[in-house]
Amino acid sequence: EFATVSDLIRGHAAERPDKPAMIFEDRSIPYAALDALLDRLAAALQREGVGKGDAVAILAASSIEYGAAFLAALRAGGVPAPLQPSATPAQLAAMIGDSGAKVVFLDATGAKALGDAQVTAKIVRLEALDDFLAPEDATPEPVEIGPDDPFNIIYSSGTTGTPKGIVQPQSMRWIHIARAPGGFGSAVTMIATPLYSNTTLVSFIPTIAWGGTAVLLGKFDAHAFVSQAAKHRATHAMLVPVQYQRIMALPDFDSFDLSSFVLKTCTSAPFSPALKADVLARWPGLLVEYYGMTEGGGTTALVCNMHPTKLHTVGTPLPGQDLRLIDEEGNEVPQGEMGEVVGRSGAMMTGYHGRAEATRDATWHDAEGNRYIRHGDVGRFDEDGFLILMDRKKDLIISGGFNIYPSDLEAVLIGHDGVTDCAVVGIPSEQWGETPIGFYTGPGDAAETLAWFNAQVGKTQRLADLVRIDELPRSAIGKVLKRELRDRYAAA
Ligand code: ATP
Ligand code: MG
Repeated sequence: EFATVSDLIRGHAAERPDKPAMIFEDRSIPYAALDALLDRLAAALQREGVGKGDAVAILAASSIEYGAAFLAALRAGGVPAPLQPSATPAQLAAMIGDSGAKVVFLDATGAKALGDAQVTAKIVRLEALDDFLAPEDATPEPVEIGPDDPFNIIYSSGTTGTPKGIVQPQSMRWIHIARAPGGFGSAVTMIATPLYSNTTLVSFIPTIAWGGTAVLLGKFDAHAFVSQAAKHRATHAMLVPVQYQRIMALPDFDSFDLSSFVLKTCTSAPFSPALKADVLARWPGLLVEYYGMTEGGGTTALVCNMHPTKLHTVGTPLPGQDLRLIDEEGNEVPQGEMGEVVGRSGAMMTGYHGRAEATRDATWHDAEGNRYIRHGDVGRFDEDGFLILMDRKKDLIISGGFNIYPSDLEAVLIGHDGVTDCAVVGIPSEQWGETPIGFYTGPGDAAETLAWFNAQVGKTQRLADLVRIDELPRSAIGKVLKRELRDRYAAA
């Protein structure tokens, strides 16, 4: 029989009632109290008409109440739909409408994000859950849930376009849970990215499913992260590259006792080999980089400790993952050549919610008709089968008929002493179609750095311009927003 995350929480409540399930700032909630809260919340959701398969939207910053709302939606038989407060009010109203949510959980952050956008769903404030809760003795109606039923809807981060609702089935989350490296039951997992991202849920859900403790953090602060990790004797953390960068740059990093760490993972954006090497040298435990997408498809992993000579790659496909590379015509490219990543596994989205055409566009079929998901990223496999990831297809620069990979240029630019962080994007050019320009942060002088850069690279790769900025625009989980850089340059 299929065990749901909700079933597992009941088991933990019976077996380890006093163990903290979540910790946030100076509060924590043990499994028994969490289980009781979930019953009351789920019963209240059902009272509002939430039944099997109905979306429950959550628009809020991480908190114990956020975690409870998410898990209660599951217990009610519903489908949590976490939304990103960085979206515009109109986008948020559209996502809530698209999901069909009957209830929207909001906190102050969410209320501010939603502004005066109109929604028909019932709004429940996370700060005032007591007003919404069913009586102490209420229990929700049991709902039969199977592996093909939806687990959650995640709206894509919108890095490359308008957000689409990605329906992840129960079976897909189960693969995340099953894949959680051994001993998650004793895990103390640092949750340092917001709960509304898939990246975060990939570590939050398994931690709770296995009966571990999730330490939730608010707005990211590198110093707070290491002190909390040391205080709670953290064993696991899922961080994004820019967080590793800030943590490793702490002047007193080496004074914190992080010896409790078993595993740190990284995903969601390019993780530089130099930074990986620094983490390996100074932070105990395994370091694993994952490459994948919310839609599922193919996931690769690089256990950095085991492959110190492969830090420029994102590793090899996980067991059960079939990754191929295809060209513009949809044909597989010969071994060693660049192509768009497509992937197939047991962990794939059902599709984009209510968007059959977008789902078709994101799908590739092999000769046998098997369904693969197009990742929109370009890469190649090295001679040992490790994936070298280049860029998102949408970010490739085609200049005078040549393909320019921004990541190649960024790798050179970051080598300048005066450059701390950088990004290269293409802008329209009458002469070349497109031409590359660079943005950087750091003390370097723009004219001097540009001249230095252009002397390092071939003629076609030269930057037409280099702009110094205070900070690269990034999404809430640290992805550089290249679209925003292009727009900003066009507007300047
Ligand atoms: P949207 O689809 O709305 O543009 P998104 O693609 O950023 O949003 P995700 O599914 O969370 O949303 O991100 C998947 C993408 O993140 C991948 O396609 C890839 O471009 C990037 N990515 C993930 N892991 C890595 C990694 N280890 N190294 C480099 N890039 C990565
Ligand atoms: Mg994507």
